[in-house]
Amino acid sequence: MNAPEASLQRTAGALSPDAVVGVIGAGTMGAGIAQVAAVAGHHVHLYDVNASQVARGRSLVEKDLLALVERGKLTAAASNATLSRIVAADTLGAMRACDLVIEAAVEDLGIKQQLFADLEAIVGPDCVLATNTSSLSVTAIAGKLKRPERVVGMHFFNPPPRMKLVEIVRGVASADAVVQRATATARAWGKLTVPAKSTPGFIVNRLARPFYAEAWRVLREQPAQDAATCASLDALVREAGGFSMGPFELMDLIGHDVNLAVTQSVFEASFFDRRYMPALEQQELVRACRLGRKSGQGLYAYGANAAKPSPQVVTSRVRLAPEATVVGDLGVAAPLVERLAAAGIRILHKAGLEAGQVQIGSAQLLLTDGRTATEVAAAHGHADTVLFDLAADFATTQRIGLTRAASCSGAAFDLAGATLSAAGLACTPLADVPGLIVMRTVTMLVNEACDAVAYGICGEDAADQATRHGLNYARGPMAWGAHLGLPRVAQVLHHLQAHYGEERYRTSVLIKRRLAAQSFAMTSGVDR
Ligand code: NAD
Repeated sequence: MNAPEASLQRTAGALSPDAVVGVIGAGTMGAGIAQVAAVAGHHVHLYDVNASQVARGRSLVEKDLLALVERGKLTAAASNATLSRIVAADTLGAMRACDLVIEAAVEDLGIKQQLFADLEAIVGPDCVLATNTSSLSVTAIAGKLKRPERVVGMHFFNPPPRMKLVEIVRGVASADAVVQRATATARAWGKLTVPAKSTPGFIVNRLARPFYAEAWRVLREQPAQDAATCASLDALVREAGGFSMGPFELMDLIGHDVNLAVTQSVFEASFFDRRYMPALEQQELVRACRLGRKSGQGLYAYGANAAKPSPQVVTSRVRLAPEATVVGDLGVAAPLVERLAAAGIRILHKAGLEAGQVQIGSAQLLLTDGRTATEVAAAHGHADTVLFDLAADFATTQRIGLTRAASCSGAAFDLAGATLSAAGLACTPLADVPGLIVMRTVTMLVNEACDAVAYGICGEDAADQATRHGLNYARGPMAWGAHLGLPRVAQVLHHLQAHYGEERYRTSVLIKRRLAAQSFAMTSGVDR
């Protein structure tokens, strides 16, 4: 073992509490990371090329700590002690004393490479160098160093004191001991870590892309692409899909400039894989300076007098159907039947058909399978075809998305809507787009996560943990896949790809492998 390797071996565990931490860049993230390290008991040297940023960063930390004191979560003495552990570093030379340096300077590869080259000449042999980059390659940041093996990504989320997740990103050269030190240290600081490979978007920023991208695609195909339509799509994703926010309200909160920049960076870094193609509509918003909440106008208006539009619902004066006939197996949508029965509608059952359906009057209602209602109507030879969207839980959802075939009569659609409304479901109408909004978003999230797992970017648990804790998803993509069943996911993707003819909807190799294994086990009776 040579000398650098021997010294890296000593870096494997968590930092001892008396170890000194350096933080470079005292902006939003750097100040927050300095706070996390100081709360854990470390002395922190905080450096910024712009000295006033350090003072500003320290005062942000002070404000945050005081808020904790006011809420009785921290004593004034502990707050003062924590703040006193964060000292301003006048030069980068102060990093000489550090055992771990976390870089959170501006997102620019040239600046980060220069910083790490400078640091390499300053710090001791055991010092671990971490970058908080959210989109740059950890491999590239370390690539030109004499000892790239001591560089690792520690990707905190905003705001670092409150967000539990840290992605630990391994570059091509990152040593095991260095990855272990970053992991153990983040855990000792109370964080949840997920290991990731240095690839575009790491885990969270990659896995989240379809959440925004599919919403833009669905919006593009609605008759009106206005705030009222956004409100309908947001309500469906939030209330039926069980996500904490809808895609448009979330992009308005993040800022369209920031959201577009992340999408562009993942798209470009993936050699322009069309799966990550940015939306022209979002680019137009950025060009118009409609950045979202921060500019007072995004997809929604945020002025003092601005009212957020309500989601559309199917309203009809028709009386509800006295009975509904359930044909075949409704799968995840089966709880709908109990809700119809509880609303006083007589339920008849008929065996048959592979795809389960509910017949209400002349309308056939089916869960979307990625085809348009018009395509399903043609395939089944049934004019009055109505499709409903996916819900996270059909037993409790208060809202459901509906669409109808071009051949479906208004009366048949109204009767279906009135009957579902009686069962406690606000029915939000959508244009006849394949996969509607929730099903399409969810299947693309599952597909993206499966690819990330198949390509060794993260494990299955990490995919779910990262999206739950980094994006606040109530259900991670792998759990969604298990809930829906991979055959249904593959069917929806297959239909989307057939409809659009775009490789964007190609099915993940992991899904294909698992379905092949399932089919082999079924045909051969082997289950292992
Ligand atoms: P910021 O603009 O708030 O702060 C960046 C700071 O870096 C500024 O204070 C700037 O003066 C300083 N800086 C610039 N060049 C420097 C240099 N050569 N040496 C030292 N300091 C320098 O940015 P931020 O939002 O805190 O982001 C910092 C890093 O964290 C970026 O890599 C970003 O991608 C990443 N990140 C940001 C978020 C987020 O939500 N803001 C989340 C995760 C990761």
